Amino acid sequence: MQVLVVGAGVVGLAIARQAALSGHDVTVAEITGGIANGVSSRNSEVIHAGLYYPTDTLRAELCVRGRRMLYEFCASHGVNHRKCGKLVVATNEAELGKVETIMAQAERNGVEGVEMVGGNAARAMEEELFCIGALLSPETGIIDSHGYMLAMQGDLEDRGGMIAFETPVEDMSHKASQWHVRFGGSEPAIIPFDAVINAAGLGAQGLARRIEGYPAGQVPRLVLGKGNYFGFAGKPAFSRLIYPTPIDGGLGVHVTLDLAGRMRFGPDVEWIAEENYTVDPRRADSFYERIRTYWPRLPDDALVPDYCGIRPKLTGKGEGQADFMIAGPKDHGMPQLVNLFGIESPGLTSSLTIAELVVGYLKD
Ligand SMILES: Cc1cc2nc3c(=O)[nH]c(=O)nc-3n(C[C@H](O)[C@H](O)[C@H](O)COP(=O)(O)OP(=O)(O)OC[C@H]3O[C@@H](n4cnc5c(N)ncnc54)[C@H](O)[C@@H]3O)c2cc1C
Repeated sequence: MQVLVVGAGVVGLAIARQAALSGHDVTVAEITGGIANGVSSRNSEVIHAGLYYPTDTLRAELCVRGRRMLYEFCASHGVNHRKCGKLVVATNEAELGKVETIMAQAERNGVEGVEMVGGNAARAMEEELFCIGALLSPETGIIDSHGYMLAMQGDLEDRGGMIAFETPVEDMSHKASQWHVRFGGSEPAIIPFDAVINAAGLGAQGLARRIEGYPAGQVPRLVLGKGNYFGFAGKPAFSRLIYPTPIDGGLGVHVTLDLAGRMRFGPDVEWIAEENYTVDPRRADSFYERIRTYWPRLPDDALVPDYCGIRPKLTGKGEGQADFMIAGPKDHGMPQLVNLFGIESPGLTSSLTIAELVVGYLKD
């Protein structure tokens, strides 16, 4: 089949690669001039173990299996990564109850190697840490996500697939068993495809509304959950990722490490109405307060505004977490069309399993 994937983020690239490996003729249309210019370039680059997500959700299933596949992909394709492990820490009795609940969920999700450790044992692993107990997740890691996306682009191109940059998809309609897709950009055209996958990240809802005849009630609302990061100007204090207990809308301001050995903190949750990518330095105050609950010796003036990313959420403040929404023909009634909505964390970790699921929806 002639398959069009809209969006060259980590999810679009994984789907395009999987479709090409399955023998389809694949084109990716990307509005910007390169891969990974959307949500995929603005995240924590953590390979999540799959601890938190409720049983029987796509996020639980696709993350746990996706993580295993991602480690295998990194090994076979030489993508830089490190299984550094993570501690989810409790700094008081109430938080200890929450960490134990996460532990039980992690076991239900089939996450390997998780264990509860006491405060002293945690401090023996990370001497700067304050906590009264923690969940140790040895399977959590970090990845060079750009290297991962380049490797997927390589696999796609080896199988004859291609990416058209600066090529926005404007709209489409289904006629005579084909999708007629209208492209903008410098060479506007209408081109037919057998199947279309909408992996446009923050643009997915907008595009779905421009699909002729697509049921309006099947397009979920888009809520923007900005996550700000602050860099740490100094030698990293930890060798593992350190997470507090989750907060409304996110996993809490945690310690992230990159493969270059730098330490940073974030992301927090800032509910916004319109996309913007500036980090307000005044947010540092709340970062100091939160980080010092588990790292009391965080020095003054050590945090510097870094970058931010925007989570394409389906639920807002106080509304609880939504699952990934992957809408195929059985959901919306239109043939050979899959729309992906709300692909926030752990979308990077789950990208290979999302791709398997989506390509499985395509039928000759
Ligand atoms: C702050 C933050 C931290 C995160 N941390 C992690 C983490 O540590 N681990 C993890 O597993 N996940 C994490 N995630 C989630 C992960 O980053 C996302 O799930 C993933 O990057 C989504 O990829 P995507 O391909 O769906 O979207 P994108 O990367 O946004 O790709 C969509 C692409 O579509 C293009 N596009 C849009 N509209 C059109 C159009 N009409 N025509 C053509 N192209 C179009 C855009 O330009 C873009 O390139 C985090 C997310 C955020 C925001």
